[in-house]
Amino acid sequence: MFKKILIANRGEIACRIIHTARKMGIATVAVYSDADRAAKHVQLADEAVALGGMTAQDSYLQADKIIAACHETGAQAVHPGYGFLSEQAGFAAALETADIAFIGPPANAIAAMGDKIESKKLAKAAGVSTVPGHIGVIATAEEAVKIADEIGYPVMIKASAGGGGKGMRIAHSSGEVADGYATAMREAASSFGDDRVFIEKFITSPRHIEIQILADKSGNCIHLNERECSIQRRNQKIIEEAPSPFLDDATRQAMGTEAIWLAAAVDYYSAGTVEFIVDGDRNFYFLEMNTRLQVEHPVTEMITGLDLVEEMILIAAGKTLRHKQIDIGIHGWAMESRLYAEDPYRNFMPAIGRLSLYRPPAEQTHDDGTITRNDTGVGEGDVISIYYDPMIAKLCSWGCDRNAAIGRMQTALDAFTMRGVGHNIPFLSAVMEHDRFISGNITTAFIDEEYQDGFCGVTASPARKRHLGMIMAAAAYDEMYRLASLETAPTHPRHDDNSNRQIVQFANADTGAHDADEDLEIGIIRANDGSFNITAPPEVETNIHLVFDRDPSHPRLHVVLTEDGETSEYLCELWRQQDRWHLYYRGISLCAHVRAPHIAALAHHMKLVERPDTSNMLLCPMPGSLIKLFVAEGEIVEAGQTLCIVEAMKMENALIAEKRCKIEKLFSGEGDILSVDATIMTFAAAD
Ligand code: ADP
Ligand code: ADP
Ligand code: MG
Repeated sequence: MFKKILIANRGEIACRIIHTARKMGIATVAVYSDADRAAKHVQLADEAVALGGMTAQDSYLQADKIIAACHETGAQAVHPGYGFLSEQAGFAAALETADIAFIGPPANAIAAMGDKIESKKLAKAAGVSTVPGHIGVIATAEEAVKIADEIGYPVMIKASAGGGGKGMRIAHSSGEVADGYATAMREAASSFGDDRVFIEKFITSPRHIEIQILADKSGNCIHLNERECSIQRRNQKIIEEAPSPFLDDATRQAMGTEAIWLAAAVDYYSAGTVEFIVDGDRNFYFLEMNTRLQVEHPVTEMITGLDLVEEMILIAAGKTLRHKQIDIGIHGWAMESRLYAEDPYRNFMPAIGRLSLYRPPAEQTHDDGTITRNDTGVGEGDVISIYYDPMIAKLCSWGCDRNAAIGRMQTALDAFTMRGVGHNIPFLSAVMEHDRFISGNITTAFIDEEYQDGFCGVTASPARKRHLGMIMAAAAYDEMYRLASLETAPTHPRHDDNSNRQIVQFANADTGAHDADEDLEIGIIRANDGSFNITAPPEVETNIHLVFDRDPSHPRLHVVLTEDGETSEYLCELWRQQDRWHLYYRGISLCAHVRAPHIAALAHHMKLVERPDTSNMLLCPMPGSLIKLFVAEGEIVEAGQTLCIVEAMKMENALIAEKRCKIEKLFSGEGDILSVDATIMTFAAAD
């Protein structure tokens, strides 16, 4: 067995691999860029070697420096994680030449599967069912249109070298093909240095279901069942689960068998994933094979009990598989949520910044048997930069069935507190509570269909809003009480009937505007133990008992609310800004004043905040660089016309004119690096 291995990666996956190596008694070497000097993976490893550089290109992709670091430290093997060098056959081959083991598949299997066109050909020859389409490079836009016409619409134009959801475009008509062809080629060239694209049928509303395989160097291969990864935005997974709520055992076995055929066709060893899309009739089609450890591998680990990194290390050391197909079962249900630094309210645009607060939930097995796991590579104070992938953590849950796993995920998301960087937790919480998600009736179109106008937060049901309103009132009352008790004079809230009446006036957080119909009037009494008894409305005999369970080490407020014997628990974020209370809970954002009735009655005299009018400005929706500017000052543009392209995290985002207008003034030029909300141009009326 290896005594020391080097991890050629960063972030959560580097930490994840170090964890298993340590468990196996193997020493670890981290490598790091200048940007990552203080990163968690560097702290965790036994040794660390600097690669220099900030960008991936200048650091984690420097194969020669990584091989030199192995020599320098005596590392006998390299685990590449995912991304970076994990799927570069040249790197695996160079390690072999240097007599260092690659903890991954053979170089020729990486090469064969790294190219979508070549792998599709191979899969077809191995008897694996593939997506209908043209398996070859498309040379011109004209050819693209001709082939798309033959395949029938919609079609998908894909980069042969693609990965991470980049370099793919859907076209619904021949008109869209030429455009999609050009964009896919540009994105492919800039992301992968290879602009070859091909076209296949776009399967409408499919599921993404993939098979995890494990194979050793002696020709044994097993599959570890499936993962469903249909919840995607921009063709990138954000929520994954195992098993799939859709597969029956016959389909599962058929997919597993074809995945093993494909692995055998390239003499595969190590862990690998064969991705399929599955239509509503459970027909499945091969998409691609990922010849590496997959981001979402934890859900497979949680239902099979295997440690995939450990298996990969054993296989690389020449050991035969320890498990037979018959040993592999499906135990319970696992979910993974990818926490990204991104803005779900703005089409999931990437965000950057410093994590001024980072408090994930504790990793543990809970009293009810469910499990919380959190794979992360950051800590409080760390910076999420523009240089690398914006994933912050992978939060996983396990339960005996799907509902138990979802329930645990909901509370784990509730407890996860981060500040300083925009993140997608409100969105993940919203999906976990979405009826269609809970029913398991999901497809890759889920987000587009359920959030057609983008994600605008969650509207609380009247029952939930009532509860949250009471929590805000209790918090306000509690604070008033505590402030009063600090003073020497007996100025405690009076306990006559009237002073116990409070009105929760919900308001718009931006403008302060409030609708009296939404007011919640309650009667509230603070008991000596700090709990509250509430009647809502005050004259009705309800019996609500509310307890704040404050954990000073945790920024979330835990509230236990019992109404007529039925208990609800809320883990929410609550704070006061002057006289306004703000509450966040599962994608719901509420703002309210808590006022005594005589003050509440005067509320309509309050002045509203005026918001600046930005409708005649084009503001940059995310940090990025302006790579193309298509308009000039004074030009008239039509609704739907592309104004410019901003590239962020290697994704091209076209900014489109919303209506006919005149370009008044340009504030940015091609090549400019823009921050979020930077003014790119202003508009004037067209005539
Ligand atoms: P998975 O299928 O395991 O979820 P993804 O396709 O989402 O993996 O990609 C995993 C990570 O690797 C992401 O950070 C993605 O940006 C990166 N990645 C995947 N393929 C490539 C590639 N060919 N080049 C660069 N980065 C890639
Ligand atoms: P990547 O290498 O970027 O992961 P994939 O080929 O695996 O690329 O596709 C990523 C996602 O794009 C899939 O999970 C699926 O949601 C969608 N997709 C890809 N090809 C098709 C297709 N032909 N029809 C429908 N959806 C597709
Ligand atoms: Mg894929």
